[in-house]
Amino acid sequence: MNMRIKAICLVIFLSLSTAGIVPVQAGGPLYVTGPDSSHPGQPYRWSLNPIPYYTDLGSLGNQSNAQANDLISEAFQAWEGVNTANIRFQNAGQLSYDVTANNIFSFQNTLRNCGNTSQPANAIVYDVDGGVIEALGMDKNSTLGISEAICSNDDAGFYARGWVVMNGRFIDGTPDSYSHASVSIEEFKGVFVHEIGHLIGLDHAQINLNCLTESSCPAEDLAGVPLMFPILLEGAGSVPITDDIAAVSALYPALNFSSTTGRIQGRVVFSDGSTPAQGYNVIARPIGDPRKKAVSCVSGFLFTASAGNDLAPAWYDEEIFFGSQDPALIGFYDIPGLPPGDYTIEVEAIYNTGEMAFIEGSAVGPIGYYFGFQYKMPGTCSLQYLNYPSSPSDSCSAKSVVTVGAGVTVNTNTDVILLGTPPRYDAWEDGP
Ligand SMILES: [Zn+2]
Repeated sequence: MNMRIKAICLVIFLSLSTAGIVPVQAGGPLYVTGPDSSHPGQPYRWSLNPIPYYTDLGSLGNQSNAQANDLISEAFQAWEGVNTANIRFQNAGQLSYDVTANNIFSFQNTLRNCGNTSQPANAIVYDVDGGVIEALGMDKNSTLGISEAICSNDDAGFYARGWVVMNGRFIDGTPDSYSHASVSIEEFKGVFVHEIGHLIGLDHAQINLNCLTESSCPAEDLAGVPLMFPILLEGAGSVPITDDIAAVSALYPALNFSSTTGRIQGRVVFSDGSTPAQGYNVIARPIGDPRKKAVSCVSGFLFTASAGNDLAPAWYDEEIFFGSQDPALIGFYDIPGLPPGDYTIEVEAIYNTGEMAFIEGSAVGPIGYYFGFQYKMPGTCSLQYLNYPSSPSDSCSAKSVVTVGAGVTVNTNTDVILLGTPPRYDAWEDGP
């Protein structure tokens, strides 16, 4: 057991009603075992089932303690309700005292003592007015909640302790304004579900990014934004959708998961057809319902962010603890949980500009989390598709259809060759 995991998630609220993007400040696994594990390259998960949690004693915004307990119970049930996943939660009781801004540090320090097995496996802290969030050094008007895995068994890749803090300031009854961001109870419940998603090992996911970055976000696009999207969008739901369902089922598969769904695996590679490209968003979209039922993965999601990465910041001279160092996993993508049908595979950059870039606490995939940036697309296309067979003269919109059957893994002719990228080596080299 140790405490290497330091994930903090911020969910930033975006108010579409208040003139575009207001800096109100508002699918894949979160951690992967590294070289110190006896089986590197495995996503971290809980081995306990049911997973116990303990709730705080106080109120949450204008919600009483009993109402807050109901909210969190419904949020846990949202994940339990996924019928291709085998994951259960158990309300194991209450914390031993009301956690407030005055005692948050002693509470946190006690949790961080992983050798103290009398501490709760998961603590759900109700921050009544944002005071706890503020004491932890975050902006109480933009941070809806945080989630952190605290203790883990890094050999096995099992979580042992975690916590969530929910910021009640957003539901204290104050009308939404620039200086006091507020959300609906339904949206807040969605944030609970999101934070629990992190607690059980899910990373952020990027699908239908236009709903954040462009003025156009049709209803079906919004409906296809996963709960694990890094930023809360106005009108977002609180029920796991296809991408969330695929992610939780891949980590905690029920017996019917592998027999009723298929998966597509491949690599994202440069124009030479062989050099793998890390850190790109890969989305499988079903032909019949492409916007609402897409499933995503980040290329190289099982591989460490650090090994051989020339773009690692100069200050980062330490080997990253997480992620496999198996070169076969560089640029590899694996999109599970696909209902049988026909799909296109598209590749795009992860959101990499502006104040809300998907980095650090809002990262999608390991690159943004560890390095604080995301790669831009290296070639001529800002968005392109799997097209087989691929030709350098293809247009960016050229695409082929991949048919997935139940219980089938499609993994041939699935490499996405990026168009118009620099060659693997410069003209003076002739490396292997
Ligand atoms: Zn998050």
